[in-house]
Amino acid sequence: MSPATPRLTTLIAAVGFAIGSVCFDTASSQETQTAGTFEVVTPPACNNDKGEVVRFVDRSGGRTGMAAGMARRDSSNNPIVLRSNYTSAPPVFQSFIDRHECAHHQTGDVDRPHPPRNGPEHLMNESISDCVAILRLRDEDGYDQAGLKKVTAALRNEMTKIGFPEISISSRISNIENCFLKLGTPQEFINKILKKRGLLQP
Ligand SMILES: [Zn+2]
Repeated sequence: MSPATPRLTTLIAAVGFAIGSVCFDTASSQETQTAGTFEVVTPPACNNDKGEVVRFVDRSGGRTGMAAGMARRDSSNNPIVLRSNYTSAPPVFQSFIDRHECAHHQTGDVDRPHPPRNGPEHLMNESISDCVAILRLRDEDGYDQAGLKKVTAALRNEMTKIGFPEISISSRISNIENCFLKLGTPQEFINKILKKRGLLQP
């Protein structure tokens, strides 16, 4: 077992505790009445743990004005990320959602049995996806401290609007900030997770 494993587990457990009882793959709009404020960003490259290409699909609908992402397989069993109402969230936050959802494919979450909603395992998966997302923005998109601040400010803004308690917001942000300081590439982090899950391709 690598020396980093216990630290990761501790961090995630601490974060999971405070995140609370709401799924956070969503972001509310700036103004629920007027969707369509922001340009939709170009999705990042994304392959799942089996090497399959993940397609990003835009759709409107769902809860009015709420930007949201969902990682799943479509009716033909192809891996996709459904992007809902992205025009209602700022580009920096759209980029974060894209990479967070992609991470659910990269770490194999999508093809594993779904853990009980908001249980410790589910919250751990969410923390891992947040971590992968910020590492990608750092290493592939050149986000520095200023970029990190933009992401966390947007996240705080969106979560506040939905009504998350402060402890959930600050814990999630704290996890993201800690991940930003992590040594190693996003892929190395993903590989550690896959290895733990027995999913690492030889
Ligand atoms: Zn998620």
